[in-house]
Amino acid sequence: MFDSSYRRLGDAYSVLCAATPVSEPKWMAFNHALAETMGWPKAWRETDEALAALAGNSTLAGSTPYATVYAGHQFGSYNPQLGDGRALMLGEWCTEEGKRLDVQLKGAGRTPFSRGGDGRSPIGPVVREYLVSEAMAALGVPTTRALAAVATGDPVLRQGPEPGGILTRVASSHLRIGTVQYFAMSKGGDGVAELVNHITMRHYQEELAQSSAANPGTTQVLLKGVCKRLASLVAQWQSLGFIHGVLNTDNMLLCGETVDYGPCAFMDNYAADRVFSSIDTGGRYAYQNQPGIVHWNLSVLAQCLLPLMHDDQEKALQAAQHAVDLFPRHFTDVHGALLANKFGLGTFRESDRELVDGFFKALAEGDLDFTLAFRWLTEVAGGNLDHTPLPELFKPSVALLKWLDGWRAVRKQRNADTEATLEQMRKANPVVIPRNHRVAEAISAAELGDYRVLNDYHQRWQTPYEWHADDRLYAASPEPEVRVTRTFCGT
Ligand code: AMP
Ligand code: MG
Repeated sequence: MFDSSYRRLGDAYSVLCAATPVSEPKWMAFNHALAETMGWPKAWRETDEALAALAGNSTLAGSTPYATVYAGHQFGSYNPQLGDGRALMLGEWCTEEGKRLDVQLKGAGRTPFSRGGDGRSPIGPVVREYLVSEAMAALGVPTTRALAAVATGDPVLRQGPEPGGILTRVASSHLRIGTVQYFAMSKGGDGVAELVNHITMRHYQEELAQSSAANPGTTQVLLKGVCKRLASLVAQWQSLGFIHGVLNTDNMLLCGETVDYGPCAFMDNYAADRVFSSIDTGGRYAYQNQPGIVHWNLSVLAQCLLPLMHDDQEKALQAAQHAVDLFPRHFTDVHGALLANKFGLGTFRESDRELVDGFFKALAEGDLDFTLAFRWLTEVAGGNLDHTPLPELFKPSVALLKWLDGWRAVRKQRNADTEATLEQMRKANPVVIPRNHRVAEAISAAELGDYRVLNDYHQRWQTPYEWHADDRLYAASPEPEVRVTRTFCGT
């Protein structure tokens, strides 16, 4: 059943808007596993009716599509009005289990927020988002999901004409730091209280119920909750070598899910300052900067919420500061726990920092692959590489082999060399990730009308922590000459 609780906040928050029909829709991919969890009937899913609805050629029963307004800091500069210019909300899908999920078409035509844009998307970004967001979900990272990818049959004009596509995106909600910013900073505070109430009721009810009597403020609960969820999110990105690419405040969801798979990529060979996005010329959103940038984005959110935190300005400031200060602490805790799992240490201690730094130093100096290095370590911990193609896929440097001595000593000293920590390593160190050159391959094939590569990689990336028979192909890191080092937003 579709509902739109967000629409009920009023026209200041979103405007009704229809999709623009396309000429010849075709399925590129359909995520049956996700549809199943949403309770979308199997018999319906691959009908012409479903295709027409997810291509924007017809409207689903109960859906009254709309576009939402937001603002945001883009590369540090405030843009007072952005909005769903290339996305259209079909509504909030309420599952039988009582879950409420935003269902959105990305690339369904112009909306009142499209500014100079065409509201469309080429196939490339649709394929990238479909693959990477679903791989992220399989890796266990909170993320928006991809329900379907459709080719429209109509060209979109970018550098030249490119085939167009539409992605059906599903999220706990699409409300962003930028949504709060729009009302707080562009509208002088009008409407922020209602928005805060909506978001807290939707995403932080448990936290609200648990908040102590001394601190009953909804705003405080929301700010603390977002700080904690985003700290945990970025810790997971760091642990997997995921680089988002455009950490603008409008690309940070308040529900704590990863959103906006534009120029994102997983790094192959390790470098702390790795950047992929072609527009991130200053490296603002480089791998090592991600935690700091998310922290900065949260301070922007805190600033927007100040007037609601307390009537007394001083007390408001203290409460906001307290919430924002949760970020570094929570990040350090979660990231430490993830590192302990990745290195098989049981628990992480401050004194392990040197050991971890030594590992990354060896990777950087040896131009070694981030993902394979951790999986290699996992198999070394298990005492046997031979059940894997690793001996062919990964050659440890002399420095890395030397580093192993120190690592073994720490594990021994701590009695951490156990079956339990080995299992933690296996669950923290994936065999396969959506490597950039593979995503690029899927995009090139899809542009020629062949969606098999897309569906094949999608399938393999659903079980990232297991070895499969043909992983000589799937797990391999790219040869230096086929590394994809630049990615584009595709707007
Ligand atoms: P993004 O870089 O995807 O976060 O988008 C930033 C802003 O540009 C958002 O307000 C989008 O809605 C808008 N936008 C991006 N691409 C298009 C497009 N092709 N047509 C209209 N608006 C767009
Ligand atoms: Mg965006």
